[in-house]
Amino acid sequence: MATSYELKQHVETLLDDERGTIFKEAPHRVALVYPSPYRVGMSSLGFQTIYRVLNQREDIVCERSFLPDDPDLYRQSNTPLFTYESETPVGDCDVIAFSLSYELELIGIMTCLELAAIPVRAADRGENWPLVIIGGPITFSNPLPAGPFADVIVMGEGEELINVLIDWWKDYDDRERYLRDVAALPGVYVPSIHGETFRTVAQARDTCLPAYSPIITPHTELSSMHLVENGRGCHRGCSFCVMRRTTNGGMRPVAPERVLATVPDYATRVGLVGAATSDHPKILDILCALVDSGREVGLSSLRADRLNDDFIALLAKGGARTLTVASDGSSQRMRDLAKKHIKEKHLRRCAELVRDHNMKLLKLYMVIGYPGETLDDMDEMIDFMLELSSICKVALGMSPLVAKKNTPLDGSPFEDHKSLETKIKHVHKKLGRKVDIRATSVRWSWIEHEISQGGFDMADAAEAAYRNGAGYSAWKRAIRDHKKGITPLRIPESERLQPGAILPDELASI
Ligand code: SF4
Repeated sequence: MATSYELKQHVETLLDDERGTIFKEAPHRVALVYPSPYRVGMSSLGFQTIYRVLNQREDIVCERSFLPDDPDLYRQSNTPLFTYESETPVGDCDVIAFSLSYELELIGIMTCLELAAIPVRAADRGENWPLVIIGGPITFSNPLPAGPFADVIVMGEGEELINVLIDWWKDYDDRERYLRDVAALPGVYVPSIHGETFRTVAQARDTCLPAYSPIITPHTELSSMHLVENGRGCHRGCSFCVMRRTTNGGMRPVAPERVLATVPDYATRVGLVGAATSDHPKILDILCALVDSGREVGLSSLRADRLNDDFIALLAKGGARTLTVASDGSSQRMRDLAKKHIKEKHLRRCAELVRDHNMKLLKLYMVIGYPGETLDDMDEMIDFMLELSSICKVALGMSPLVAKKNTPLDGSPFEDHKSLETKIKHVHKKLGRKVDIRATSVRWSWIEHEISQGGFDMADAAEAAYRNGAGYSAWKRAIRDHKKGITPLRIPESERLQPGAILPDELASI
């Protein structure tokens, strides 16, 4: 059993390996908490950006905390969740801000709140508890299942609104009046006032861009990488994607010089982050500048139809050994339904580029289980994978469709578990050892689907699952006991894709 001293020692070791950590004092303290462990949280550009933005203020010190790798060690040693920078108990901070990326992180939010000795539900917190704010990628789609745990939710792009919320919080001494007043702000969702309704997604001014990470650490998924966005949003309209153009008005590219100005001299690895990094009109200029300065470069999203010799040569020179692209649908029929406009010829070209530039691997990501998908679609994919594997080494990732709110596929049912498992087995059997196959768990994808389509009922389910150990059976029982039905759609019925519908190539001109 670890002692409090040992838990704090571990955190100090992590801090020792960081560059860019901000230590300061200020009258008001915000705990910025990531409901997954450090390794995951420090790879989040949004989380790091809020840390940087809040610490630019003289009146605020913002310190980080994370879901511990093993929360039981905290429980057994009676160690309250504490901030990394000053080891202040999170429960003693004025404001606790969570960044929520995935549905299953609701468990992490409850765990962190309880480790901080704070009631998990806003309704059980009185005037004197810290203000609990939730923001993060999930708010672009469906924040309702997180609603009962939050006092305030920032919808969408939060780097400006968080300052407004904290300014107002400092000036109020009446929590209810504060909540009533901030509820009127666009982009702010106060679950206790707005109930199960969807609020508009906030958009930060272009002058706030680009988001970039102040801290570099070797202990993340993206080891020792400086993260910077080269554009915000996306101008395309893929039917499964929350970041499509209707969410925040299309892509706002950032000028190359502004992207490059964020990179500190000591950063040897740079990750370009964004919904559509390869769509930036000057992506080659940015890559060229980074690679010529001797840095390794990674991109968070590559579209197969944007890649060519020059692009891949730069990536390879920048240290990339694997080319990762999404094909998004098992067959051309399914890719048309996904509306991503990726065709076999684009993927074949990617395989040739991997081979020609001596890269090691082509990794393809595939969504399966779109409405109307059959084994024939899987067979088309299998034949094509065999063809690609004759060009270069191929790895295939398959994930069941989890229909999200704020997309045309909102409301699409999750495919029957047995049917999905049959498809996955069929692919394994046919592709054998020729392709390295990784499939996301059907059962956990189903839970994600239920939460992402739900409302406050899924907060009840999440709490019941949490109280019963948060394993699959606990979740299954909790969803069965608490599911009330489908929450309202976020986009008009007319914009939704009907099962089997193939819509025109509206983006052919891009
Ligand atoms: S999947 Fe990619 S290209 Fe399609 S809308 Fe989303 S971010 Fe844009």
